[in-house]
Amino acid sequence: MSGNVLVVEDEQKLASLLADYLKVSGFEPVCLDNGSEVVPYVREHKPDLILLDLMLPGRNGMEVCKDIRTFSRVPIIMVTARIEEIDRLLGLELGADDYICKPFSPREVVARVKAVLRRTHDGQTIQARGLILDEYGYKAILNGHDLELTAVEFKLLQFLVDNPGRIYGRQQLMNKIYPDERNVSDRTIDSHIKKLRRKIETLDPEAKFIQSVYSVGYKFESE
Ligand code: CA
Repeated sequence: MSGNVLVVEDEQKLASLLADYLKVSGFEPVCLDNGSEVVPYVREHKPDLILLDLMLPGRNGMEVCKDIRTFSRVPIIMVTARIEEIDRLLGLELGADDYICKPFSPREVVARVKAVLRRTHDGQTIQARGLILDEYGYKAILNGHDLELTAVEFKLLQFLVDNPGRIYGRQQLMNKIYPDERNVSDRTIDSHIKKLRRKIETLDPEAKFIQSVYSVGYKFESE
């Protein structure tokens, strides 16, 4: 197994120990020691996986994880020094793929990295009639062309594609896309759907994937 692994860890010794183990196992590690450097790095270099320490100078791991999830599904393994933190982190639904508690053996970390990559790799692309969704980059490709969707449009499309033929009301879609927000209007969903359809139909006028069901909501039809 190979790939670029971003190690975010401010304890220098631990970071280089992890990097050594990852290198020996065939990965290409890069280390950062400040939380504020992570998001710009991820946007530019698109690593295959991130090992993210919770307590960091600059910005804490929780904030960084949440921020990354607004634009990428890159696998993230959170690392914390306190086992009791893990329950709290799970409850926050930060969108991390796994959690590791310090102290750990580097061997165990490498095993977890491999397991997460194996598990998440399968879900990387979903195809439906010329449509490929790359959930790590929030990228949707139709007949070989990038639809250039916003993160919200991508999430909407992915949710509908994952549940073909099922009709979803606006409220259901809103809860799915904006889980923490209470004051998003119905019209917001309509407007996202409208833009999404326009992008799809500009590339392929025949691709009427997203259908509206009068007074109920929307569904995805692949046939
Ligand atoms: Ca730390």
